[in-house]
Parts: sequence; structure tokens; C-alpha cells
Amino acid sequence: MKLKWEYKISSEDKKYIKNHDNPDEFIIKLNGNIPYLVDDNKKQLEGDVNPFSDLDSLNRCGVAFACISNKTLSEGQGNRPSIKSKPTGIFSKEENFINGKYIFQRCHLIGHQLLQKKNDKKNNENVNKINLFIGTRLMNHGMRYFENLVADHVRETGNCVLYRVTPYFEGSNKLVYGVRMEAKSINNKDTKGLLFNVFVYNKQPCVKFKYETGEILTDESKDLSKKMLKTKQKYVINEKNNRFHIENCASVYDIKSQKKVTQKGEDLIQEKKCPCGICIPY
Ligand SMILES: [Zn+2]
Repeated sequence: MKLKWEYKISSEDKKYIKNHDNPDEFIIKLNGNIPYLVDDNKKQLEGDVNPFSDLDSLNRCGVAFACISNKTLSEGQGNRPSIKSKPTGIFSKEENFINGKYIFQRCHLIGHQLLQKKNDKKNNENVNKINLFIGTRLMNHGMRYFENLVADHVRETGNCVLYRVTPYFEGSNKLVYGVRMEAKSINNKDTKGLLFNVFVYNKQPCVKFKYETGEILTDESKDLSKKMLKTKQKYVINEKNNRFHIENCASVYDIKSQKKVTQKGEDLIQEKKCPCGICIPY
């Protein structure tokens, strides 16, 4: 059996990820949404195993793999420790703050809510160094959606969930191209399982940046409202809070179907609905 950190994204999946990299794709399913995880992996993760890989020679994080259970979940959102670590691709505040919003955030490979109990305060800065990377707001938000699926499943069923996040850095780039997220529940007989295998791209609509360094090249989001008046493109509105999104925004997954309405851009502007802060659809 391979050591748990040896799993990499296969060249076939890399090709698939590249081929699906277009402006409208933010999250795609890999391998028909079936993870490359087996129940036996649980044995590898038992005991006092560190869920994180060491940083590589370029100071970048690697595969993180843990068995998430009621023992590792945080009890609430409180107590989240402040983060001091600076992952590769870090930017100055001024460079990152565009149109009143930050483009990049520090993202966790394994979210604090899933693994809090193992990360006591003393250990926390050490964990942050190997658990963090830089990603866009949209990416962070997309990842949170899948983290929440895992947390909810563990809380609802008491099952444990094998959970692996594999960052994909191309060449010597400082910014990650995206992350693969896989989950597989180890089921009690009576419960429905949880399975996913997705790739979340590190992108932000209308913003171009260099993956080599993290430098932001262009931000066209402020010019979009004019374009949108002309466009026939469709947007998704959440009627609960009157926010509108691009169709592939990770937030769209969270909208209940009875609150989900699709409209053309030109109609939206007239109705003065509020743009989403994650996908910046304006
Ligand atoms: Zn959105």
C-alpha cells in the first residue's frame, strides 16, 4: 500500500482539469465524482498521524489527509485563532485590495471546523504553516461548501469521513492552480454515504493574475455593469437575500430551489439587486 502522502493527481486527471479550464468553470467533478479512497485508508490515519505533508523545497503545502469524526470536529465557529503564517504567493495589502474587496485569502487545506480538536493552540501556528495556501475568495468559498458537507454528514450520522485535499501547483508556481477534494464516509449500516471527488480552481471572475508569483494583472470587474446592461447572459438570483450570482458561483449550490430564479443581466440592473461578493458578477 502506498504511503498516504504519495497520492498525486494523475496525469489523466491533470489533462481533464486543463481541458475543462474555461471562464465558466470553477468546480468540476473528477472520476465521475468517485474519490480515489478506500476504507482501508482509515488504518493509515489512526493514532497520532500528522494529517499534513511537509512543505516542499519551494515552501508550498502538500497533500492533507485525515479521518474526520466527532472527535475532530469543532463544536462551534468560535475560538478561531488568528493566522500569522504567510503561504507562498502572499501579496501586499494594497495589491490585493481591489474595488473595495480582497481578491486573495489564506485558505486551509483542512478547514478549522473539521480538525479543531487536534489543533490545540500551542500547535496551531505549526499547523498553519503546512495547512495554508493562497486562493481566491471564490475558491475559499467553494471549498467551504464541501467542508460543510463533510461536517454536516459527521454530525448527522456519527460516521467518520476519509477526507483528502491535494493541492496542484504547476511547475514552480507560487500560487496553486486548484485543489482536488475527496471524501468517502465509512458508513454505519443505516446511513446514506457521502462521496465526492471534485477539483476547485483557483480563479476569480474578471480577475487575471500570475500563478507564478500571485501578481494581479487585470481586474475588469468594475467595468462589467455597463457590459451587463447589454448582455443577454443569465444570472442566478437568491430571492431570500436578493443577491445575484454568475451561474457557476459556489454560493449557487446553497440556494434552495424555491428561492432560485434565473434572469438576464439587463433586467437585473434595473431591479437593483445586489451582486454577490464572492463571484463579483458586475
Ligand atoms: Zn456568487
